[in-house]
Amino acid sequence: MHTQSRIVLLATTLALCGTPFQPGSVWAQSVATTPGNKSSHPDQEKTKTPYRLGIFSADATIPLNHRCMGILPQKSIRITDPLFVHGFAILGPEQPIVVVAVDWCEIRNASYDKWRDRLALAARTTRERVLVSSLHQHDAPVIDADAQELLNNVGLANELFDPEFHESVLDRVEEALRDAIAATTPITHVGYSESIVEDIASNRRIVNTEGIVSFSRGSSSGRELLYRDAEIGLIDPKLRTLSFWDNDRCLLEYHTYATHPMSYYGRGEVTSDFVGLARERRKRDDRNVAQVYASGCSGDVTAGKFNDGTPESRRKLTNRLYDAMRHSSDHVQRILMEQLSFKNEALNLEASRDENLSVDFLNGQLHDQSLSTEKRILAAMGLASWNRVARGQCIDMPCLDFQIARVVLFPGESFVGYQSIAQELSSGKPVLPIGYGECWTGYVPTESAFLDGFHENWLWVAPGAETQIRSALRALFE
Ligand SMILES: [Zn+2]
Repeated sequence: MHTQSRIVLLATTLALCGTPFQPGSVWAQSVATTPGNKSSHPDQEKTKTPYRLGIFSADATIPLNHRCMGILPQKSIRITDPLFVHGFAILGPEQPIVVVAVDWCEIRNASYDKWRDRLALAARTTRERVLVSSLHQHDAPVIDADAQELLNNVGLANELFDPEFHESVLDRVEEALRDAIAATTPITHVGYSESIVEDIASNRRIVNTEGIVSFSRGSSSGRELLYRDAEIGLIDPKLRTLSFWDNDRCLLEYHTYATHPMSYYGRGEVTSDFVGLARERRKRDDRNVAQVYASGCSGDVTAGKFNDGTPESRRKLTNRLYDAMRHSSDHVQRILMEQLSFKNEALNLEASRDENLSVDFLNGQLHDQSLSTEKRILAAMGLASWNRVARGQCIDMPCLDFQIARVVLFPGESFVGYQSIAQELSSGKPVLPIGYGECWTGYVPTESAFLDGFHENWLWVAPGAETQIRSALRALFE
């Protein structure tokens, strides 16, 4: 059992990531109550740490004329800025852990398994210990080999995604991971920090003057008064950062914040958008500190209140997120990297029983040549989700417990309410909730959002998800 009381923070350092540690400053140390485990000076720990960090990245930019967000009519016509995969591997006494954040919209079903299996093989670990998440930019691809296979059978090859391109990215990432594992650095300390993000996220849920609830506030709704003036609603304003250190040297910062990452999209301009741009800017502050960003549970959260969809707004959102990343590094609590616990829970989420998502209905749409290609792609995605649930494959929900904070990977477009639930259940230990893991689910609303009547065409799970996720979190945090 890992309660907060097991770890006593003797002191915290105000360490700017990447800034040389000042001799004489007080390190944060952990004191474990387990017999035989003594607190010690970090210098003595230098050679004792059993953990090592490998850092990698690779280009993941889609080619021109590639589908974006699975179903957008406008394919890619310009690369505004490149898309990347960023990740790290942790080697220690147990099997390796791999964490990957991809500048894509979603990775689903057989493709999600393929990512995990390929990287697990490269790192000599198991599928469950490879945490893959997408950042969910919309002018970026949805990858689902099961859906693409259904499309191939009706003459729509390459319409969801280009398998050859996808394979080339996986090859690059796998090679980068192998290289990273061959050149690791000791992790003596792990740090946690957070900051408040100003004026980015707002909930999609609004209540109009007649008291009617809708989830109609989109990413760039701020151009309309109704959406600009509506309350922010339920969000999680914190950017949370986990950092890995080799004594006084910060090696990597892993940030997460809950918002859809788009300022504008649908024009075929491929971009990592304000979240990726903020990350790239933060990298330039100190090239020796790797920066990884992952989107939190933000199915119902967008920049809609604060964003009118102009390039100027994209710049402002980038600056605000960059500021939060920078400020988060101002106050880092650190402990010795003595223990990393891994747990995984299997989620058995049910598929939606909506009549427009029945197998017969979706099959009819997939084969109907009078429908738009985009509608037929969506039908293939729905069928791929159905088939997945029918064969009984659960969703892995892994948790990394670094003692100072936990990382939990959520499925699909989990709503922001799950972040509050996770924090509540974590008994005071900070949680970094990561969204957009396995994405066959589409949206994963909370119970209250289902009761509000949330219903969109990117929703493939049935009500009841919250009960399952709560019990999975309880088991993960035991
Ligand atoms: Zn979305």
